[in-house]
Amino acid sequence: MPNSGPYQPDNIFARILRGELPAHKVFEDDVALAFLDVMPQSDGHTLVIPKIAARGLLDMPADAWGPYMARVQKVASAVKAGMDADGLTLRQYEGAAGGQTVFHLHFHVLPRWEGVGLRRHGDAMEKDDVLKAHAAKIRAAF
Ligand code: AMP
Repeated sequence: MPNSGPYQPDNIFARILRGELPAHKVFEDDVALAFLDVMPQSDGHTLVIPKIAARGLLDMPADAWGPYMARVQKVASAVKAGMDADGLTLRQYEGAAGGQTVFHLHFHVLPRWEGVGLRRHGDAMEKDDVLKAHAAKIRAAF
């Protein structure tokens, strides 16, 4: 996948948006989709992507930020409540040099608990039944 240049419509998240690949979805409306990260850095690690085709923060139209960030906040609230977390860490990696690996804009919403560290970014695949259980808890918290 090229890490610069125009938006590539065959990126993994575009394929999830089109329903071509499965995902443990927790939220969807006309603006954004949220689903669990398959390599969670903490239990309940959720990604929130806009439906607009933007590679990253720098490509997102300025007037699209308000509606998108409102969804990020809404999802973050459900993630914290559903996972019974003490707090959250939000992250966004911009460009390959910034750590981005999938070139469709996304915010990571990471539930945090006092004294519990994060696992490494993109380290290990989580079991499908664990992701399924976490997604159910988060969906129930909207
Ligand atoms: P980034 O480095 O910010 O581009 O992060 C991409 C994230 O997407 C990583 O945390 C991956 O674990 C996650 N990821 C990759 N493929 C999938 C997928 N098919 N479903 C859910 N998450 C994915």
